[in-house]
Order: sequence, then structure tokens, then C-alpha cells
Amino acid sequence: MSIKTVSRVTSPRAPHFVGDGFRVHNFIPGTSTMQEMDPFIMLDYNSKYSFEPREIPRGVGVHPHKGFETVTIAYKGKVEHADSTGSGGVIHEGDVQWMTAARGILHKEFHEKEWSRKGGEFQMVQLWVNLPARHKSGEPKYQNLSNDRMTKVSLPDNGGEIEVIAGEFNGQRGPASTFSPIHLFNAKLKKGATAEFSFPAEYTTAILMIEGSVRINDAVTVSQDHFALFNRDGATFSLTAPEDATVLILSGQPIKEPIAAHGPFVMNTREELIQAFDDFNQGKFGHLED
Ligand code: MN
Repeated sequence: MSIKTVSRVTSPRAPHFVGDGFRVHNFIPGTSTMQEMDPFIMLDYNSKYSFEPREIPRGVGVHPHKGFETVTIAYKGKVEHADSTGSGGVIHEGDVQWMTAARGILHKEFHEKEWSRKGGEFQMVQLWVNLPARHKSGEPKYQNLSNDRMTKVSLPDNGGEIEVIAGEFNGQRGPASTFSPIHLFNAKLKKGATAEFSFPAEYTTAILMIEGSVRINDAVTVSQDHFALFNRDGATFSLTAPEDATVLILSGQPIKEPIAAHGPFVMNTREELIQAFDDFNQGKFGHLED
């Protein structure tokens, strides 16, 4: 099989706050564009950061999304959310929340109350996945993917495991349902282990280093909190862990439709974007208390 090589490794940019609860480095679009990263339109990474205890939880108040999906992956800390469809809950460490905003949703995201009271180390990813045009006006949906629902594939020789969130690894499928082909894994590699991954060459493929470091194809080192984007030149790459490591791996088939994006709305045309603002202003995304 042909080797997929690394296009570039990106170090974390200066962080910024989303609300007062998420201190994030932006990697997508980052130094790239939504078109190049298609179907991924945004990736914010809250690298490990210690929050002081606080009675009133930090976070982001009521805000809209339309035309795509938000995927929240919790590594440390807990997030409580509620949305205008009446859904809500807590994302615990190891859990993933896969929210389909589709035709429009309002939600709020805060540190969970008890966790906020104690404070502590917080580490989280929020990934935005674009929706194909025909699904942008669909019903909002929400998948609560608790850690015990993840498909866990053990590597040989106690090399660790691949936690499959979406798509498949070695023929084993993860629990998330998606609207276009997406593979999303947490690879938990033990020191000295090597794992091989294979995705179609044309897919947009990248890794984010959550814990420790890895070597890609025994050629390129990716350090903690760094992001590596692959070329579309081949299918297969290997990750070798010089120390215990956790790696978020994402690969998706480009949707290849025009993108018209502004803030929390991602549509196909400027007219649809204007319509999205009108719909939001007219209260068509429902209602949610502050
Ligand atoms: Mn949001």
C-alpha cells in the first residue's frame, strides 16, 4: 500500500478564550482554510489548563449553530450542556457529544457545576464537521457517546488500544452515525507500540497530539499539543510511540460543495447565510433560557 506522507506539523497558536470556560488553540482552519480541511470546518483545542474553583460555572451562554455538527471530546473536566430541543446532559471525561445542528439549534455549554466548585485540569476538543447541502435543513439531533459505548480495539503485544468514535478501524465500527464518511479515533498507544492506519488517499486526514508524542512513518515527530496534516498522496501511515501517548485521529471524505460561513452558521451560498441570520433573528431556532 502506498504511504501517506505528512504535509506539515503545526505548533499550537496563542490561545484565546471562548466564553470564559474554554481556553483554546485553533487548528482548523488555523493556518489552513475550510476548503482545504473539508469536511472539517473548525477544530479548537483546549490544551491542559487548570481552572480555579468557582461557584458559578464558567462557559459559553446561549448561542446558535446551523448547517453543521459540533463534536465535543472531553479528556479532562466535565461539560454540562442544554439545547433548544430540550436535550441536555453532562459530557464526562472520555465521552463525546456529537450534536447535529442542521436547520438550527440554540445551546449553552458550561463547566459542570460540581466540577466547577472543585476546579482542576481541563482538556477538551471541539471539532465542527460540515453537513452535505441536502442535510443542512434536517432535524437537529444529538448523540451522547459515553465512553463505555466506544468500540475499543486492542493492539497486539499489549500495545494499547484504538478507541473508535466514528468510522472503522480494522473492520470494527464506532458508535457515531455521520452524514458523510468520517473516521474519528482516540489512539492510546503504549510506549514502544506501533499502529498502522489506512484511509482513502483523497480523504482529509490529520492527527492532534493529546498526550505524549509520536513518530509518523518513523520519520516525523509530533510533540504534545501539536497538529499534523497529511498529504493526499497515499493511504497508509504508521504511528510509533516513544512514550505512552494519546492521539486524536481524524479522516473524512471531502464534501466538495461551496462553503459560505459566518460565525456559527455554515451554509453553501451567501443567500442561505443571510436567510440563516433572518431565521435566527425571527426566533426560528427555538428558545432556551439563559
Ligand atoms: Mn456551541
